[in-house]
Amino acid sequence: MCGIVGIVSDEVKTADIIDSLKKLEYRGYDSSGIAFVRGGKIEVYKSVGKIEVLKNSIKDLLEKKIEVGIAHTRWATHGQPNDVNAHPHTDCTGKIAVVHNGIIENFRELRSMLEALGHKFKSDTDTEVIAHLIEEEYSGDLFDAVMKAIRKLDGAYAIGVIHSNHPDIIIAARKGSPLVIGLRDDMSILASDVTPIIRYTKDVIFLEDGDVAFLKKGRVEVYRANGEKIDRKVQHIDWDELAAEKGGYDHFMMKEIMEEPMVISSAITGRVKAGKVDIPEVREIDFSKIRRINLVACGTSYHAALFFKYFVEFHTDLDVLVEVSSEFRYRKPHVDKDTLTIAISQSGETADTLESIRLAKRLGSSIITITNVVGSTITRESDVSIMMNSGPEIGVAATKTYVAQLTVLLLLGLEIIQQRGFWAGRHEKIFDTLLRLPEVFSSILDFSDKIKEIAKEFKGYDHFMYIGRGYGYPTALEGALKLKEISYIHAEGYPAGELKHGPIALLDENFPVFAIVPQDSLYQKMRSNVMECKARNAKIIALTTSENSDISSIADIILEVPRVPEELYPLVMSPIIQLFAYHVAVLKGHDPDKPRNLAKSVTVE
Ligand code: GLU
Repeated sequence: MCGIVGIVSDEVKTADIIDSLKKLEYRGYDSSGIAFVRGGKIEVYKSVGKIEVLKNSIKDLLEKKIEVGIAHTRWATHGQPNDVNAHPHTDCTGKIAVVHNGIIENFRELRSMLEALGHKFKSDTDTEVIAHLIEEEYSGDLFDAVMKAIRKLDGAYAIGVIHSNHPDIIIAARKGSPLVIGLRDDMSILASDVTPIIRYTKDVIFLEDGDVAFLKKGRVEVYRANGEKIDRKVQHIDWDELAAEKGGYDHFMMKEIMEEPMVISSAITGRVKAGKVDIPEVREIDFSKIRRINLVACGTSYHAALFFKYFVEFHTDLDVLVEVSSEFRYRKPHVDKDTLTIAISQSGETADTLESIRLAKRLGSSIITITNVVGSTITRESDVSIMMNSGPEIGVAATKTYVAQLTVLLLLGLEIIQQRGFWAGRHEKIFDTLLRLPEVFSSILDFSDKIKEIAKEFKGYDHFMYIGRGYGYPTALEGALKLKEISYIHAEGYPAGELKHGPIALLDENFPVFAIVPQDSLYQKMRSNVMECKARNAKIIALTTSENSDISSIADIILEVPRVPEELYPLVMSPIIQLFAYHVAVLKGHDPDKPRNLAKSVTVE
C-alpha cells in the first residue's frame, strides 16, 4: 500500500500537491517524492522518511506554480526505503515520471529485457520498469505508450504517469490497487483514495480494475485496456476528511478488517508461478536440508506461528517448535545449523523477537523473518525476509496483518511441503482454495451486522472462554486475545481438551464460551467439549461451518463460515473473531483503534 496523488490545473503549486499527499501519509510513510513539469522539464525531489522531510527539502519551491505534478508516499515492498528507491521513478531520458502502488510480479524478467535493450536502472524497485517500458513504447502519444506498457505488466498496480512533452495531462491506470479521480471545471485530481480530493471537490470517479484514465484540466476520459472508451459514473460523496481516511468506517480497525480480501491477494501476489507456490525470497533456501523449524514470535504473531507448527508438522517429517520470544531468549534452546528459525513480527522491531533471532543466529541457525515493514531492524538481521505487503496497520490490535501472516505462512508451508516431496492432492486443494480466498472473505465480511447483534447480547459479561482443538486452537487463542485487548473483558483461550483439567470450574451462566467448532477431523471431540460446557449452563457461541444443524441444536448462537479444507479455517474464521471483538468494544464505548496500555510496535523487552 502507498499513497499516490496527481494534479493537473493551471493554478497548481507544489505545496498543493505536497499537502494533498500528506492526507495519504497513513497509507505509507517510509519515503516520499514529487515530480512535476516546470518550464518544459520534469523535476523530481525525493526524501527518505516522512513527507515533512520532503516538504522541508523543497521549501523554496513550495509556492512555485507548476503545470502538472504527481507525488507518492511509499510503503516499500521491493528495495529498501531510501532516497533512490522512493518514487517517482523516471526513464533514461528523464522526461517520464511514474508513481506506483502495488507489485509488478514480472519485474525481474522485464528489467533484464530492458537492460538488454540498453536501459539503465537507478533503483532496486519493481516500479522503475514501468518508466522504462513507457519510454520504450513512446512515440509521441503518452496515452498510447502507457496502454502498450501496462499490457506487459503482471501483478497489481495503480499508476500515475507524466511526461515533460505533455505538461497538461496525467495518465493513470489501475489493476488491483485503488485509484480515484476528483473532477472540477478547472482541475482534475488523481489519488489513492478520496481523502486528498474532498478539499477540492466531492465529485469523484472510482476507477475499476483494467481502467486507464486520461486526465486533463476539467476533463477526464476513461478507457478499458483494449482501447474502448467507457462511461464511469461520477459519484457525489459527502464524507469529511476523517471519515474518508477511515474509508467511511467509524474506526481504522473496521476498515482494516474490510481490507482483508485485498490483503490476502497482496500476500499471494508474486508468489505463485505456473500453478505452483514460488516465493522468490526463499529461492536460495534448500528446505530439504533442514532438520527442524523453530518459530519465535509474540502476541498475535505467536498464534500465527502456532498454526504453522500444526500445519507443517502434520504435512511433513519436520519437527516444528514454537516459542514466545520473551521466553525463548532466556532459555538454552537446542538450535543449530540444521535448524531454520522463522521470526514473525508485524513491525519488524519487536525487541524480544529481535533478541531471539540474535540468539538463534549465534547458535548457527539461519533466519527467515515474516514482517510488514521493509528495512525494519529484524529484516536487517535476518538472512531472508518475506514481506506481508499489507500496507500500514493503524489499529493497534492486529487484524489484517494476522490474516497476512497466516497467508504467507500457508504459502511458505506449501513451499516446504513441495520441496520435501510431500506434495499430494490435498495440498493442491489447499492451494487452489487459498487462491480463491479473497472472494470467500468478502462473503464472510457481509456478516458484520449479524455479529453486531450478537455482540449486543454478550457485551455485558465480564468473562469469556474461547476453546478450540487442532487448527481451532490458535483461533481460540487469537479470539480471546482480540477480545481482551480492545473490550477489556477477561477472556481465556484454551485447548478444548484441557477444560476438564481446571478451567471448567469457572464455567456457569455468567461465563460464556466461544467455541471454534468447524466440521473438521476433530469435530466430534469438540462437540463433546461443547456439551460439557453446556452442562455447566454456560452460554455457547459456536463458530462452525455452514449448514451444521448438529451443533445448532446445542449452541445458543451459531456463526458460520463456508466449508474449506481444514487447514484454512484459521484464516476464514479470523474476520469473525475480530468483528466480534470489535463490536463488543465499540458497544462498550471503547476506542478499538487505541486500546489502553498497548502500543503498536513493542520495542521494549
Ligand atoms: N512495489 C513498489 C515499491 O516497493 C510500490 C510500493 C508501494 O505500493 O508503496 O516501491
